[in-house]
Formats: sequence, structure tokens, C-alpha cells
Amino acid sequence: MESRSEIRLSSNADECLLCRAERVTAWHYEDDECWVADCLVCATPMIVWRTHGLPEAEIERRLIDQLGRAAAARYGDGGYWIDAERRRIPDHWHAHARPEGGFFDPKSALYTKWGRSASR
Ligand SMILES: [Zn+2]
Ligand SMILES: [Zn+2]
Repeated sequence: MESRSEIRLSSNADECLLCRAERVTAWHYEDDECWVADCLVCATPMIVWRTHGLPEAEIERRLIDQLGRAAAARYGDGGYWIDAERRRIPDHWHAHARPEGGFFDPKSALYTKWGRSASR
């Protein structure tokens, strides 16, 4: 079930993976502002703002809250950490919730112990 399709870095909204919002993984939540789904790469819950760009701090806090609810359902209260660093798609706001002490969800093919980076 692992997809080998390339995820390209792009600044073009037309080609933006997050704008396309394809339902290739399980979705946990959606509303007019955002959606939460398992990340294709990490298999952890990831929240995506529907707008291509970066939100103001107030909106960002609200989005992180929403992600926290999905993360608590998966990993339990306090069993996760919020990773707001955008590595692949820096110009479209999204954030991951990752399991405590880990980076990938255990069901991800890339799952390794914290500190050992997966070699693609
Ligand atoms: Zn990810
Ligand atoms: Zn986008």
C-alpha cells in the first residue's frame, strides 16, 4: 500500500499537493478553514489550512488546537508533540502531530527510532 509517487516541492498553488487535498489517506476532520488527515509520508495526523499561504498567529493557534484534538484521539492526551516545521511545502501552512519521542507514526514505512533519520 506504499505509494512511491514523487512529492515535489512547489511554490505553484496549481501544483500544490496540499491545495489538491486528495483523499489518499484517512481524514479525521474538515471544515471551511482546514482539514486534518494522516500525512502520506509520516502517517501522523497533519492539519492543512485550506488557503495556500501562511495564516496569522490567531488563526494558526486555532488550527493547532484542532490538530491537538485529532492527535489526542490518536496518541492520548500529552502523548504527542506539534511539529509546525514545513519541510516539503514551506509556503502552504500545515503542521504535524507526532507521537511522543518519535517522528513517524509506527504504521509508517519510514518509522524509526527518534534520532535515526530514515534514509528515504
Ligand atoms: Zn508528514
Ligand atoms: Zn497549496
